[in-house]
This record gives sequence, C-alpha cells and structure tokens, in this order.
Amino acid sequence: MTRLGRDPQLEATARNLFISLGAELPAVHVKVEWSNRLRSAAGRANSRQYLVLLNPLLCAHGQAEVDRTLRHELAHLLAHFRAGRWRIRPHGPEWRRACTDLGIGGESRCHTLPFPVLRRARPYLYVCPSCLGEFRRTRPLRRASACLACCRAHNRGRYHERFRLRKVDR
Ligand SMILES: [Zn+2]
Ligand SMILES: [Zn+2]
Repeated sequence: MTRLGRDPQLEATARNLFISLGAELPAVHVKVEWSNRLRSAAGRANSRQYLVLLNPLLCAHGQAEVDRTLRHELAHLLAHFRAGRWRIRPHGPEWRRACTDLGIGGESRCHTLPFPVLRRARPYLYVCPSCLGEFRRTRPLRRASACLACCRAHNRGRYHERFRLRKVDR
C-alpha cells in the first residue's frame, strides 16, 4: 500500500510532542505529509512552513523507522522554532538537543539510512526550498538555478530567488 498526502495520525503525534515541550507555534501549524517528491531521502523538513515530508518507501521499513524519521524531522522544526531569528546549522548542536528532547538522542544526521546507495552517478543533490523537490546533478551547479515548476506556478516562469535550489550536504 502506498500512502500519499497528509497523515492526521502522525500530525497528532507531532502536535502532542510539541505541546509536551512547550512549543506552541509548531504544535498549531505542523503538517506531516507522505510525498513522492522525495526519492532517496527518508524525510525532509521545511521549518518555515512547519512541514515534514516523509518518503512512502519508509513504510516498508516498519513503524519504528517511520517514527524515528518523523522525530528527526520534527527536531529540525523544534530547533528552528527555538532559535527564533538566529540562523542555525541544519544538524548542529541545537538540532541534536531537540533530538534528545524528542527521545532520539544520538540521532545520525543521515536521512537516507534505510535505503540502498544507488546514486553515485549523480552525487550532487539540490532541493527547492519551496516545494522541497529534489534535483540530482552529475556536477555542482555553477550559477544560481531555480525550481522550474515553482517559477512557473508562482512567478510566470521567471527566475525568483525564493525558488533558488539549495545544495544538500551529505
Ligand atoms: Zn535532518
Ligand atoms: Zn519547487
């Protein structure tokens, strides 16, 4: 069974975790969605949108793996919320502390753990900050590139900084 779309049950789990940690805004706004926009990543978080995407392939790895990945991504939202206007590194000390608070202390920064490594041919991974779509390249991007789908949907097909692809370090 392939799951897609928002998951009310996981959203309730996320809400309760945030409430127990006194993180009110994330508790109110958090959305958890199964998405086939993720290919190799188990999950991904957009802290500004309070959005967590999960890879439907995760289901094959059992409920424990789903729960761990959910908490990994929620830790990104929690760390971002606590940092306020301060910029923090994605898997820095603030994130590690959030992991501990969410019951997954010692979490690895790797999002791809349960999946086979089959992406040597295109090792450079970029992500659109808006739709969280993945883009793989054989070489690093030389100039600023934006997500075409988002530029088309929101900016009449023209480049906008908001949709500029960000490199994901692995
Ligand atoms: Zn992460
Ligand atoms: Zn996009």
